Amino acid sequence: QNHSGIYPDLRKHNNCMASHLTPAIYAKLVDKATPNGYSLDQAIQTGVDNPGHPFIKTVGMVAGDEESYEVFADLLDPVIKERHNGYDPQIMTHPTDLDSSKLTSGNFDERYVLSSRVRTGRSIRGLSLPPACTRAERREVERVVVDALAGLKGDLAGTYYSLTHMTDQEQQQLIDDHFLFDKPVSPLLTCSGMARDWPDARGIWHNNTKTFLIWINEEDHTRVISMEKGGNMKRVFDRFCTGLKEVERLIQEKGWEFMWNERLGYILTCPSNLGTGLRAGVHVNLPKLSKDPRFTKILDNLRLQKRGTGGVDTAAVGSTFDISNLDRLGQSEVQLVQTVVDGVNYLIDCEKKLEKGQDIKIPPPFKK
Ligand code: ADP
Ligand code: MG
Repeated sequence: QNHSGIYPDLRKHNNCMASHLTPAIYAKLVDKATPNGYSLDQAIQTGVDNPGHPFIKTVGMVAGDEESYEVFADLLDPVIKERHNGYDPQIMTHPTDLDSSKLTSGNFDERYVLSSRVRTGRSIRGLSLPPACTRAERREVERVVVDALAGLKGDLAGTYYSLTHMTDQEQQQLIDDHFLFDKPVSPLLTCSGMARDWPDARGIWHNNTKTFLIWINEEDHTRVISMEKGGNMKRVFDRFCTGLKEVERLIQEKGWEFMWNERLGYILTCPSNLGTGLRAGVHVNLPKLSKDPRFTKILDNLRLQKRGTGGVDTAAVGSTFDISNLDRLGQSEVQLVQTVVDGVNYLIDCEKKLEKGQDIKIPPPFKK
């Protein structure tokens, strides 16, 4: 990959990278590289190749390693600020709070909420991220993580299933049941380089009941997921916090640690996932509200994002959506899950009002 320092044509683009990459910033950064040799052109390739996305405003760039966030800060800081609701990495610090007992009203009306899920990502310090890792580093991530997960006990104890060892049928079943990441069909993934060598060293670890799952070497080194059918977000978040702390302890016991710093929180591949890396969401059925012209504005003001139920690249089918927090950085895990709990309860209230022919209100813009 050699673009000989030529500024890309971004006039048709609508992603955060394109909004902030001026010719001056490009010129300043184009000859820089991280200690692993990761360049600006590599970091922005996915956003250059994908001018827009049909459903969400994407970030348009990725990190190849932990150092990318320092070396390319002149571009990444404004991108982070736009994507994370004004969070300024130069002057702000990020809080972590995994005390799930602080959550209130975490039980949804199951006539509307079909399933609840909380996920985050974690990266292993010292190894390049999926857009830039070597085949050896990717296998090292798999080895380190699977080794550590063998230490999980009780309800969390489980088994690792490598993609290269399962049949196509088994893989498809896990995808259809919403447990496993999609095949790397999304150009957002392929253009960033993170689908190289697929399916080498990719897999899923899960407990027997498939309520605690860990994806290995998809978009991030690891994705840690707690999920179950129904509306008990409280229990899902409890398990998420307990399981995640235990995973971190086991990783550290093996002599490794997660990428983290106090300005950016946990370091992940996509700048949209910095901080907590947390996406708490529900599959929720809103037949009336989703047809109301105020739906989008209501979601915006509640700092919620909607996706199709097949994942970020799928359109909504019928009136069921994946509704989750929009922000990840500058607020703690507890705060973000509370935002989703309160916001989804508000949406369900609106749906009930519309059912009765009553009027609904657009809530005031969310304040931290
Ligand atoms: P992520 O942000 O975790 O990468 P994606 O949008 O890529 O999420 O979706 C990954 C998978 O997780 C998809 O199969 C999707 O259907 C599933 N999923 C996401 N949220 C939920 C939920 N609340 N309930 C059940 N499955 C979900
Ligand atoms: Mg995804």
